Amino acid sequence: MLEKTRFTKQKQVIMGILRQADSPLTPSEIYEQARAQQPSIAKSTVYRNLESMQERGEVVRGILENGESFFAAAGEHAHRHYMICKDCNKMQDLPECPVEKLEKEIAEAGDFLVTDHVVQIYGYCRDCAKKHRPLDT
Ligand SMILES: [Zn+2]
Ligand SMILES: [Zn+2]
Repeated sequence: MLEKTRFTKQKQVIMGILRQADSPLTPSEIYEQARAQQPSIAKSTVYRNLESMQERGEVVRGILENGESFFAAAGEHAHRHYMICKDCNKMQDLPECPVEKLEKEIAEAGDFLVTDHVVQIYGYCRDCAKKHRPLDT
């Protein structure tokens, strides 16, 4: 029972952090902020919570170009898409889901049951783009 209560409390801390964040956070960033609120929290606990929250659709997970995961609160939409800066890892929301129409077409064709999709755009944010003109990659 005690274990269950603690689990919920930690989940609330993590959810609070994700809701307040302007952009998605990596597990280490979430852990740093969670520790500020709950010094006893373990990194593995943060990871475990993030995983179960993802399974329940409460958070959205994405992958940075370096393979590291990031998380965001799911919000009203089941998923979000991001443009990710390869330099500073800043993430900006895509204004809309580019796959929705395609998903509908696949559903109508009836050959495949779509449950989810991932779309991420990599590149450079406005600040970092100044350092990377199109021609010098
Ligand atoms: Zn950047
Ligand atoms: Zn989408």
